[in-house]
Amino acid sequence: MLDLLIIGSGPAGLSAAVYAIRSNLNIMVAEKDFLGTGQIMNSIQVDNYLGYWGITGMDLGERFRLHAEEFRVPFYTGQAVSIHKEGEVFRTGFDNGEILESRSVIYAAGTRERHLTMTGAERYRGRGIYSCVLCDGPACRNKAVAVIGGGNTAVDAARYMSDIASQVYLITIEDHFRANPSTIRKLEENPRVEMICGATAVYAGGEDSERLGYIVLSNGRKLRVEGVFESIGLVPCTEMVADLVKRDPAGYIIAGEDCMTSLEGFYAAGDIRTKRLRQVATAVADGSNAAMSAYEYLNA
Ligand SMILES: Cc1cc2nc3c(=O)[nH]c(=O)nc-3n(C[C@H](O)[C@H](O)[C@H](O)COP(=O)(O)OP(=O)(O)OC[C@H]3O[C@@H](n4cnc5c(N)ncnc54)[C@H](O)[C@@H]3O)c2cc1C
Repeated sequence: MLDLLIIGSGPAGLSAAVYAIRSNLNIMVAEKDFLGTGQIMNSIQVDNYLGYWGITGMDLGERFRLHAEEFRVPFYTGQAVSIHKEGEVFRTGFDNGEILESRSVIYAAGTRERHLTMTGAERYRGRGIYSCVLCDGPACRNKAVAVIGGGNTAVDAARYMSDIASQVYLITIEDHFRANPSTIRKLEENPRVEMICGATAVYAGGEDSERLGYIVLSNGRKLRVEGVFESIGLVPCTEMVADLVKRDPAGYIIAGEDCMTSLEGFYAAGDIRTKRLRQVATAVADGSNAAMSAYEYLNA
C-alpha cells in the first residue's frame, strides 16, 4: 500500500513528489500522458517563473520531470478514472483496469481547454479547428487563421501565429483584450493582424468535411480562414471527484493554501483548486504545501 498517490505530473504534482519523496514517503505519481509534464509544455516562452526567464514551456517541464526522476520518484502511466475511500484507504481505478491503494491522495489533474460551441465545430476539430498553436500552428503556414479568445493565452497565440500565418484575426466576445498591454500594442501595429472585439465565431464551414474554409461571426461577417485556434478558457478536470469533495460553482475543488479538501487525506494542488492565480509558481507552491499536509496527516 502506498502512503501517497499523486495524480498528475504537471508542476503541482512533480513539486509534491519531490517534497514527499524527500520526506521518505512511499509514493507513486500517476500521469495519463506518457512522460507528461502538464500544460506548461504548450507555452511558447515562460518569462515569469523565477530564475528561468526566456525558457520554453517544454524545456521547463522537462527540467521539473528530470528533478523528480533524479530523486527517484516512481511514475505510473495511466489515466485515473475513479477514486473511492473505503475506511482509511483510497482505491484509485485506472483506465487499464488496475487499482492503486494509498493512504492519501494529492489530486493535481489541472485543467483542460474549453471548446467553442459553434455549429460545425465538431466536423472540423483536428482538421482546421485546434487548441494548441505550438502543435498545429505550423500546419497553417502562409494561410489565414483566426484565434478566438481575449486573454493572455489567446493574445500569445496570435503573436505566435503572426510569424507563421498570412493573416491572423484575433477575436474576442468582450469589448477589449485582457492581456499584457505591450503585447497587445505589438499586435495592433502588425499589418497581418486584425483584432475584432464584441464578436465570436458561430459557424464553421468549408467545401468538404476534410478542410475548414471559413467561419461566420456573430456579427454576420464571414472570414475565409483555414485554421481556428480556440483560446476561450479552461475547465477543471474534477468530474471524477464530484461526489468525493466539495467544489465551487465553476467546478474547482475548494481548498486553501494547505490544499486540504472536504475529505480527510485527499488534497487538491495546482490549477485544480480554488485560487486567485493559476500559474507555474502557484502550482509548484501548492505541490509543496499539499505534500507537507499529507505528511502531517500520515504521521499524526
Ligand atoms: C498555452 C499556455 C501558456 C502558459 N504560459 C504560462 C506562463 O508563461 N507562465 C506560467 O506561470 N504559467 C503559464 N501557464 C499556466 C501553467 O501551465 C499552469 O498554471 C500549470 O501548468 C498548472 O500546473 P498543474 O500541475 O496544476 O496542472 P497541469 O499542468 O494541467 O497538469 C496536470 C496533469 O495531470 C494530468 N492528468 C489530468 N487528469 C488525469 C487523470 N485522470 N489521471 C492521470 N493524469 C491526469 C494531465 O495529463 C497533466 O499532465 C500556461 C498555460 C497554457 C495552457
